[in-house]
Amino acid sequence: MSKQIYFDHAATTSVLPEVREAMQPYLTEKYGNMSTAYELGEEARSAVSHAREVIAHCIDARPEEIFFTSGGSESDNWAIKSIAGEYKSEGKHIITSAIEHHAVLNSCAYLEQLGYEVTYLEVDEKGLVSMEELEQAITPETTLITVMYGNNEIGTIEPVHEIGRIARYRKIPFHTDAVQAVGQIPISVRREPIDLMSASAHKFHGPKGVGFLYVHEGVKIPSFIHGGAQEKGKRAGTENVPGIVGMAEALRIAVLQMKRNRAREIRLRNYFMDRLLREFEQVRINGHPYQRLPGNINISFGGVDATSLLTLLQEDGICASAGSACSTGQTRISHVIEAIRVPDEYAVGTIRFTLGRENTRQEVDQTIRSLKKNLTILREDEAI
Ligand SMILES: *Cc1c(COP(=O)(O)O)cnc(C)c1O
Repeated sequence: MSKQIYFDHAATTSVLPEVREAMQPYLTEKYGNMSTAYELGEEARSAVSHAREVIAHCIDARPEEIFFTSGGSESDNWAIKSIAGEYKSEGKHIITSAIEHHAVLNSCAYLEQLGYEVTYLEVDEKGLVSMEELEQAITPETTLITVMYGNNEIGTIEPVHEIGRIARYRKIPFHTDAVQAVGQIPISVRREPIDLMSASAHKFHGPKGVGFLYVHEGVKIPSFIHGGAQEKGKRAGTENVPGIVGMAEALRIAVLQMKRNRAREIRLRNYFMDRLLREFEQVRINGHPYQRLPGNINISFGGVDATSLLTLLQEDGICASAGSACSTGQTRISHVIEAIRVPDEYAVGTIRFTLGRENTRQEVDQTIRSLKKNLTILREDEAI
């Protein structure tokens, strides 16, 4: 295979060499189970304990507030189902947004089946939830607000601070799916009123299958996986030691290099976006003009089918994505694109480029050339 141009960092990221190196001993000689008393167990224990401190430090939390999970989906499921269950005697109403990841939306749908009521807040054209609508949606029965930090499709960053303030004032736990934001933008759970927060290592150059849930010390959260005493008895199962070590190293590096990488990514994204807007006809950029994740470009090409365009881009070695709801062959309009009311003739032509630390200007130039060529082909086909 020739060299790929990877513009799909919201789907997953490569594991950094430093991360692989940090994990290596725990995949080989340091294979101990943390729950054992001898030296091997102690090695694992101290590695995980150190990882917990590093991760806590990166988000301004305390180590006791970090619970390791298998990734973003598990963290979302745990936060939502457990808080809903814990407070059900006080009410069975949950507030979320219409543009959440499916890990959140489907957890909420599951709770609806169990008799909970869920309010899905609408968003404006930029993808923002409204504080007035949030206030209006709150009832005495509301026991959880869950709104994502940064959207995985259109990159919009939600007003987490304001949402959290409203939630605190009303004494309602606030969860945020920050899987796209952690390691990308500065986050402090001390300064921001966040009670629970989900993150996933493979979105910030760590390994797949590991993540964490931050739980503010005052928040009662019941066990999610019952079994042994791991993670204070709340999430049983032998710890994924190499994964946890790798995640901590990945987040440490992401936070350390954030300023530089973010500035670089924003410059590259703006260059890409400017060229898309200046050199193409019938295009619209979706999401918020500036309140957005650094690497995200979500663009709709009028009169084109995203799936066909992505296939042609793939042939040129370019990896991009049609968003979360792309089933092979047919382009379905995603719930996010629908929620921000992109007109139909544009909606089906929506693709997402998500840039990362290793992308270059040459790659953007090559992608622009490929887009020009392939859009001409597709739009000519359309015209016949
Ligand atoms: C990727 C992603 C998830 C799921 O995380 P996994 O670790 O893949 O389970 C959840 N929410 C958002 C916003 C994501 O981008």
